[in-house]
Amino acid sequence: MGDIVFHNTLGGQNQPFVPLHPGQVRMYTCGPTVYDFAHIGNFRTFVFQDILRRFLRSRGFEVIQVANFTDVDDRIIAKAAEAKLKIRDYTDKYIEAFLADQRVLGIEKPEYTVRATDHIEDMVRLIERLTAKGFTYVSDGSIYFRISQFHDYGKLTNVDTSGIRAGARVDVDRYDKADARDFALWKAPKPGEFFWETRIGPGRPGWHIECSAMSMKYLGDTLDIHSGGVDLAFPHHENEIAQSEAATGKQFVRYWLHAEHLLVDSQKMSKSLGNFYTLRDLLEKGNKPSTLRFLLASVPYRRQLNFTEESLQQAASSVERLRNFAVRLNTSKFPEGKSAITESAERAREGFERGLEDDLNTAQALAAVFDLIREANVAMDQGKFRQGDVVPVGKVLESFDAIFAVLQDHDDEKLRSVGVETRGTALSNEKIEELIAARQAARKARDFAKADRIRVELADQGIILEDSKDGIVRWKRK
Ligand SMILES: [Zn+2]
Repeated sequence: MGDIVFHNTLGGQNQPFVPLHPGQVRMYTCGPTVYDFAHIGNFRTFVFQDILRRFLRSRGFEVIQVANFTDVDDRIIAKAAEAKLKIRDYTDKYIEAFLADQRVLGIEKPEYTVRATDHIEDMVRLIERLTAKGFTYVSDGSIYFRISQFHDYGKLTNVDTSGIRAGARVDVDRYDKADARDFALWKAPKPGEFFWETRIGPGRPGWHIECSAMSMKYLGDTLDIHSGGVDLAFPHHENEIAQSEAATGKQFVRYWLHAEHLLVDSQKMSKSLGNFYTLRDLLEKGNKPSTLRFLLASVPYRRQLNFTEESLQQAASSVERLRNFAVRLNTSKFPEGKSAITESAERAREGFERGLEDDLNTAQALAAVFDLIREANVAMDQGKFRQGDVVPVGKVLESFDAIFAVLQDHDDEKLRSVGVETRGTALSNEKIEELIAARQAARKARDFAKADRIRVELADQGIILEDSKDGIVRWKRK
């Protein structure tokens, strides 16, 4: 296996990945702001981060990932007040929904999942450190970061700060490069607004200080990887760098990885265009969890992903092809020996790894796997596939699934777990196997009426049986 190369937004170059502590990767991923259900564009980034951590682990690294919930910001405060709820009560519901959505998409749980509102003291302490070093000032009770004091300001996204008037401030958490100014670390409460009483005065944290405080608390002053959607690079990540490096005097993050946007039918997703989808919207429309995960994972993260009906269909049929092949491989009997497929499998494994090493080029990695499947299917059709090829080919599927995680069919269970009616069967894999065994037993006992009843019962539930010549029954869901 070769070197891992990542595209580092800091510097804009591809760089070999070498973690600071050998064998261990410390990684922070900006999580959702929990004022609503997460949408499919958000999940593109979260699936990419899952692919990243699974890949690093497959290469033997210990991964320590911290992901946060932004459970206090301008929008949350406004929405909670509107709903006449405490912030915590308002956000609980969306945190729970997010965790459920994550499971549906097969996203592994990070080592630490942390809430901003549990870390107010850490943020206050960090702001105090910045104040002690002269990076802050107070205006109308709010505390601002003085960007002219931090000479590296703008190094991540190349912001030109030369035209910025000293003391010009921005109060909102989200703004454009054109509005680059001193930003709020701590915001004084407006009348009637929720606040924390602290040593630095009453108020609440700005969005950016949350991530600086939480990432350094769990991962130390210098992180290996920090990632998020490309829209977070400015101002959020730029400001995180300023806060963290001003406080510690050390490099904050060594590799910055940013996932590109997801478009729907070539357009930016927006509620006004009617092309805005939460994960649940797409599941309600009849899409399987595995289809969505596969689609989100299959486009390399630095390419825009155009989400269309056609791409959904392609993803669904790709997953089906993979699953059918795995069943064929594992349930057929082949003549003894080995064929040229064993070498092809070795090449496919190398191709798969080479793709992922190259800045997580998932498309290239998948191409290697599908080439092998095509070749193996032809060999099986022609009777050339041998029993000795099963293990090497199986290993390719195993490597694939350690990263992509779509081979096992848990779609219906997952849909039920988030309360989505399943169109097809409600039967679990175990129940299906049980019914097939009962049908086999009935046939053996020459009770063909019963065997047929079971077949029809399964068909009613959307399960299709294929009896093969060697007496093995394969099944699939319609
Ligand atoms: Zn963040």
